[in-house]
Amino acid sequence: MRAVRMTAPGVLELVDVPTPAAGPGEVLLRVGAVGACHSDLHILDAPPGLFPTPMTLGHEIAGTIDGVGPGVDGWSTGDRAAVYGIIGCGRCRACLRGLENQCRVVPVGGIGLSRDGGLAEHVVVPASRLLHVGDLDLAQAAPLTDAGLTPYHAIELARDKLHPGTTCVVIGIGGLGHMALQILVASTAVRIVAVDTSVAALDLATRLGAHDVVQAGPDTVDKIRSIVGPPPDGADVVLDFVGAQPTLDTARQVVATGGRLLLVGLAGGTLPVRPVADEPPPLPLETSVVVPFWGTRAELQEVIALARGGQLQADVQTFPLAEAPEAYEALRRGEIHGRAVIVP
Ligand code: NAD
Ligand code: ZN
Ligand code: ZN
Repeated sequence: MRAVRMTAPGVLELVDVPTPAAGPGEVLLRVGAVGACHSDLHILDAPPGLFPTPMTLGHEIAGTIDGVGPGVDGWSTGDRAAVYGIIGCGRCRACLRGLENQCRVVPVGGIGLSRDGGLAEHVVVPASRLLHVGDLDLAQAAPLTDAGLTPYHAIELARDKLHPGTTCVVIGIGGLGHMALQILVASTAVRIVAVDTSVAALDLATRLGAHDVVQAGPDTVDKIRSIVGPPPDGADVVLDFVGAQPTLDTARQVVATGGRLLLVGLAGGTLPVRPVADEPPPLPLETSVVVPFWGTRAELQEVIALARGGQLQADVQTFPLAEAPEAYEALRRGEIHGRAVIVP
């Protein structure tokens, strides 16, 4: 079968590999769609040794079962499913609570992260990772598993701050950010301020229900403060889906006293944390910072329910498998709006 693999650090290639077979507890999935996540670019850019090579990338997968391994109950050939990408140890304190995204044994283990992913005609996954998608289009189902799940989880971690009438600043309206906006619209009554460097991303944000949009530039902080109020007031919640130094500097200067800053993006910025001895302090008093990772299986089921109910729909740009490397280059250049989805 054809697969798009990281054959060496930084090298993404379309190659021929043997079709894998499902082992005990696993299914063979005919891949229907795979989302191209910005994290795949971080994986490609990572120092040698951090991720296995060769490895098929793709951790945002939906497909149709094509074969069932020994000991699998409840799933049959022809069933359509979305794949929860994390594979925790299943035995640690976190996994036992269903928080596989906090596994204390396997920190970043998963499909397309530590074993072959879905950028191929077929992928083998543990049956325990499958969720029913009903009649959702597979190109819609795939982005739910990360671009939908990760913002959903981050918003869950800020739910106690998202009262009606409060403000939420969302930085980075790409794959994750444009899903975050819809989740906020569907599940809160907050005022949403969308921030991006790209005008096209901000147009998408307005269409999806953002109340204010701010084009990032030298005066981003002032522009956002004019909407959410100057310190010690500010945004009750800031979701940073970029995580670069400029966005983190913006985030910490617009979050309210007692607010919450969720650092989701992995662009390599750092956040200084010091008590009030400094003037001005790097973070307002009583602010909490969370560094969310992906989400839980239970949350993915809720994300799928939102989509099946018509309240969450990825803005999708599709590419055939052979064009996956070009799709990632377009993502790197900032030319993808919403989510690029590879359809093998
Ligand atoms: P994306 O490329 O689709 O979207 C990024 C958006 O940010 C784009 O719209 C871009 O224009 C905008 N942007 C870039 N620089 C900006 C700046 N300085 N100011 C404002 N906007 C800016 O990426 P994505 O797939 O949505 O992923 C976003 C980030 O989240 C990536 O770093 C990715 O690795 C990370 N991620 C983290 C998790 C997690 O569990 N923590 C999960 C998935 C993705
Ligand atoms: Zn991802
Ligand atoms: Zn565990």
